[in-house]
Amino acid sequence: MKNMRLLTVLGVLGWFTVSAQIDLSFEDNRTPEYDEVIQMYRELDKEFDEAQLIEYGKSDVGRPIYLFVMNKAGIFNPTMIDRNKKTVVLINNGIHPGESCGVDASLLLADEVLRNELLSDDVIYAIIPLYNVGGSLNRSCCTRANQNGPEEQGFRGNARNLDLNRDFIKCDSRNAKVFTGIYREWRPHIFIDTHTTNGADYQYVMTLIPTQKDKANPEISAFMEEQLNPYLYEEMNKTPYLMAPYVNVFGTTPDEGFAGFLETPRYATGYSNLFNAISYTTEAHMFKSYTDRVMATYSFLKFLGKYVRENGSEIRKVVQRANALDAEREVFPLRWELDTSASREIEFKGYEYDYVPSELHAGKRLKYDRNRPVTWIVDYFNTYAVVDSVSVPDFYLLPAAFGEVAERLQMNGVEMFPLSQDLTVNCEVYYIEDYTSPDRPYEGHYFHRKVETRTERMEMTYHRGDYLIPTSQVNRRFIVETLEPRGVDSYFTWNFFDGILQQKEWFSTYVFEDTALDLLKSDPELARKFEEWKQANPEGAKDGFQSLYFIYKNSPYYEKSHMRYPVGRVVDEVVFPIK
Ligand SMILES: [Zn+2]
Repeated sequence: MKNMRLLTVLGVLGWFTVSAQIDLSFEDNRTPEYDEVIQMYRELDKEFDEAQLIEYGKSDVGRPIYLFVMNKAGIFNPTMIDRNKKTVVLINNGIHPGESCGVDASLLLADEVLRNELLSDDVIYAIIPLYNVGGSLNRSCCTRANQNGPEEQGFRGNARNLDLNRDFIKCDSRNAKVFTGIYREWRPHIFIDTHTTNGADYQYVMTLIPTQKDKANPEISAFMEEQLNPYLYEEMNKTPYLMAPYVNVFGTTPDEGFAGFLETPRYATGYSNLFNAISYTTEAHMFKSYTDRVMATYSFLKFLGKYVRENGSEIRKVVQRANALDAEREVFPLRWELDTSASREIEFKGYEYDYVPSELHAGKRLKYDRNRPVTWIVDYFNTYAVVDSVSVPDFYLLPAAFGEVAERLQMNGVEMFPLSQDLTVNCEVYYIEDYTSPDRPYEGHYFHRKVETRTERMEMTYHRGDYLIPTSQVNRRFIVETLEPRGVDSYFTWNFFDGILQQKEWFSTYVFEDTALDLLKSDPELARKFEEWKQANPEGAKDGFQSLYFIYKNSPYYEKSHMRYPVGRVVDEVVFPIK
């Protein structure tokens, strides 16, 4: 039964001309449940020819993830889109279902866009109504301890207790696999992921993470920094929903300055950034009323939509130029670090605060005073320096044995060609020199950090069915960042190649002692290296096993594949056997 109640938002806020006819009750501090959300989109689909609700595949909990598509031409099959003529805007909601303001805001937006004919000829909206379905079914009063409503909130973990906003590369969840399919098929020019913050208190209703400018393609950064970001801040700051950059403080207060957030590819906008989407994470402020958070998110989406309607062809050109630049880039950065010497001063509307004696413990506690608004000039650190980069090979060679990696590359639309016969080829290969891993799993993995490699040139044998992956394709940056083991969210760091980190064959010391003596006699170079090692390691030289292991590791008996990353980098001209 369709509820034709006109939202009373207009009366409450006195600012927006919202004429939605959708049965939302965020003003009553309530967000709809999954089934209600889907039902509301279903009704919009029924009512408007310009809209369609598409079931895209099952989430981990077994219920579907949907995509709601709106455009004037009634194009609901992504293969029909000419991306040079249509701007695709993808909005993802409910990745953290406790942070549901985007779920309500997108319903409001869809209703208004359709009802008030706010579609232009060249814009295609694609909305994921609720991405973390399992987490949204897990509702309770209390999943967000510090947050001001709604009265029932979904849970951050999905049905497998994974944080989906860390799952975009490793793709453990069915949700992420469905998302990858949606993303590959629709390839948005603009991507927004909606959230609610944790952290400090301040006057802003909305905070924003534009994809980090030093990590993004320079064409994307220039456009966002010079045009789109200033427009969005300016428009938002004309409303009651003031917007500031995301207040990335942990354990301190904003007046001490704060840093831009580096969203690496495991995060939604870090992932979309690999494909040169103009990307934003909205973070509505947890202490503001649920109505204000929904309206702030809605306002942001509405302003962005207006800009896209009026500047579609320019946006498409920016993305085209970014893709063209990637196609020519010989070197890609792999890691970034915050430059703590580079900041700019920004105005920040906060609240005065004190550290007062705690009534609970012996220490002091931080207390903001909302009756004392204040405007500070604070240092904003948003320069990230490249600390590691890599030259792009012409091809990578991936053994088909690493099928989970091959599957993920294919899900992302990477073109790869199976070898039609075995091939021995001279490649650059990496040996993993060092890395650290945690004692406890992070998002289901013993995620590696501080990966160091050395490069060697050697003959590698690949087998029929192994994959040849050309880098001259549209997914060039994605391929490099996932296949280069030092990449901050590479498949290596996410444990897909851990088998190589363990030595498989060993020796018996009493047998190998004789072999070692023979080796030293017949190989003066080895004997010289052994003497050097003994000089440098007097303690080790006293130990039988350590001495023998040094000789073993430097002999032909030691397996070359130990610590060798199996993905070859082809930098010479080679004729490949492919069909
Ligand atoms: Zn979140």
